[in-house]
Amino acid sequence: MRLNADKIAEFIDSQIAVWPQAAGNFEALKGVRVKEVNLPGWTVKVQFNPARIVSSSAKVDAKSLKERKCFLCGANRPEVQEGIEWGGRYTVLINPFPIFPRHLTIPDNTHTDQLITDRIADMVRLASELEEYTVFYNGPRCGASAPDHMHFQAGNSDFLTLAPALEDAELKTVATDGDASLALVDSLPLKVFVIDTPADEPEAAERLFDRLYKAIPVPEGEKEPMMNLLCYPTPAGVRLVVIPRKRHRPSFYGTEGEGTMLLSPASVDMGGVFITPLEKDFNALDADLILKILDELCLSSAEINEIASNVK
Ligand SMILES: [Zn+2]
Repeated sequence: MRLNADKIAEFIDSQIAVWPQAAGNFEALKGVRVKEVNLPGWTVKVQFNPARIVSSSAKVDAKSLKERKCFLCGANRPEVQEGIEWGGRYTVLINPFPIFPRHLTIPDNTHTDQLITDRIADMVRLASELEEYTVFYNGPRCGASAPDHMHFQAGNSDFLTLAPALEDAELKTVATDGDASLALVDSLPLKVFVIDTPADEPEAAERLFDRLYKAIPVPEGEKEPMMNLLCYPTPAGVRLVVIPRKRHRPSFYGTEGEGTMLLSPASVDMGGVFITPLEKDFNALDADLILKILDELCLSSAEINEIASNVK
């Protein structure tokens, strides 16, 4: 089934109307506190969102995953949760623990590992159909709370701040494929790759992504390079932002002890909205700390240029 923004808006409203828990969380979101923090070339937001404690403190080790019922499997989902079939192998659901005013989760129809291989074209198609949404992907150790069940998420694009910052940033072209291009951006505090493709050429984006993917080192014990992905429509087509990562959580991640913070940054944080489930962390998070987080979790200018030089 082909999606569009109106259909999705109707779907979200219909689920909220019959699902008190989700309705409560979407309603609570309207009252959450948000502050702005200015970084060089990029203004980010910090959101104090107590309901996200479930996700930020999620245990994602193999043993914990095995002992819980997978909340993305159709058989375990609440009866009230309905879905829209998409693309032959995905189901569009509302996220009952939202960060965005409109927040979707889009799992694969089978219980299969969170891996991005062979799914970029799907992601680009999804972004171009969803229109006003940014589709995102959290690597299994980059914020995914269900690393054992492949899923995308999507949220209304006007919420994130990375896209406008990228519009003003210098793009250095690394490779092209027809009308699609791969570029790097090393002038912002967050170092990223950007793939731009005409909306009707999702395969070109996938080919460029594969070339980049092969150039990014895979940490020992991981199945794919660590990354977050954001994908959204632009006036010229669709843009895929690839954010390589080198660490799962900051060195000061934790709930106990002085200086610890409960932050588990994922695509949304990298997209410009840092989520803090604890009020003390919301108050403490300033530009210096955010730059420290980016420094610990993401790549340096030298590292991203090194990867670019290895793209074949
Ligand atoms: Zn599952």
